[in-house]
Amino acid sequence: MLGKEGNRGKIIFDMDGVITGEECYWNTASLVVWELLYSKRYLGLEPEANLPEFKTDVTPGEIASIRKVVFQEEKVITFIKKRAVNSNWDLAFLTFGYQLMLLLKALSGKGLENTAWVKGKKKGIDLEHLRTFSRLLMSLHGAWSPSFDAILGNWAGEARGMELMQELSAQLPVRYWELGETTFNSFSPLWKGVQEIFQEWYFGEEKYRKFYHREPAVPGKRGLISDEKPVLPVEKIKATLEKLVKKGWMLGIATGRPLNELYLPLESMGIWGLFDRGSIATYDDVQKAEQSLKAEGQKISLGKPHPFSFLKAYWGEGFKEKELVFSTVLRPQPGKCWIVGDSLADLMAAREMGAFFIGVLSGHSGADSKILFHKEGARLVLPDITYIPHYLAEINGPASRQ
Ligand SMILES: [Mg+2]
Repeated sequence: MLGKEGNRGKIIFDMDGVITGEECYWNTASLVVWELLYSKRYLGLEPEANLPEFKTDVTPGEIASIRKVVFQEEKVITFIKKRAVNSNWDLAFLTFGYQLMLLLKALSGKGLENTAWVKGKKKGIDLEHLRTFSRLLMSLHGAWSPSFDAILGNWAGEARGMELMQELSAQLPVRYWELGETTFNSFSPLWKGVQEIFQEWYFGEEKYRKFYHREPAVPGKRGLISDEKPVLPVEKIKATLEKLVKKGWMLGIATGRPLNELYLPLESMGIWGLFDRGSIATYDDVQKAEQSLKAEGQKISLGKPHPFSFLKAYWGEGFKEKELVFSTVLRPQPGKCWIVGDSLADLMAAREMGAFFIGVLSGHSGADSKILFHKEGARLVLPDITYIPHYLAEINGPASRQ
């Protein structure tokens, strides 16, 4: 907790694209979209010639071709990430959700009115409903298939983060708007379903059972977690963090990863111990805070670009969750809190909480983020984290260089 540490400065790191790699999450997200569209358990579409039939034992080559099609050679990932969508569950949800929205439009007037989704009124679409849509799909006589590139040309405007999901429902026929709103948000049964399938692919059957104490809906997945790789050689990451600790900085983390998806890779890289345990905020903290607000009737999404996770990592246990969410007075002293991130969502969160932002170009959009980071007010834009000790020493004056 910061209070005990006096005025020591703190550097809070985003993880994916900064320290840990995001590749295996994107592979996972593409498999989720593929399963929802082509597995008989869900929509059960006939796969196009460039995609394999649904199965659980996918080879690395098949994963690569699925990702290439689903994300259109990464264009879809870039499109979504540029709009400050941080979580890879949201990436999978938005990519699938957009196809589902196109399908619902095509099914309008083909019997969609008689499905459990419409009859169930306010509950929103869940995974069970998808199977009923697959029956209606037969009435289209193969006239509908996913267009993965459609998302790229269809969302004009400045919609960012969760607003993108609202844009989805606004594109449905008017009479489904209200129903659509219950589906295309991050508290919906469908979002939860997408997250479940994501975790099954990411952990694989064995680890899924171990972490969640239940059986996966579809057994036989090997788990992409074993493909995790850092963005830089581990020795370089470790040496950089050790230098910063030696200079007196406290190191924290604010990540959209759950704790178990953070601890395992950092521990195996041998850098877990360099972070201050009280300065680590994960998806578990976000979820806990969201749930306690929801219990009071307030549905607020606290994932990035909301600054909650950075505030939590900075202020530790010093403030209650509600104080962190609603207070606008908790601003760190200038230069005492540095946020290191690779995305617009991180930058927006840093700006909102009054922290200095270092944009690193080691993430997905690489050097393309440089102009955006400068335009949006980043203090520093650096190729990767290894440059941080030098630049922070320059900024903080000669004394800190000794
Ligand atoms: Mg990131």
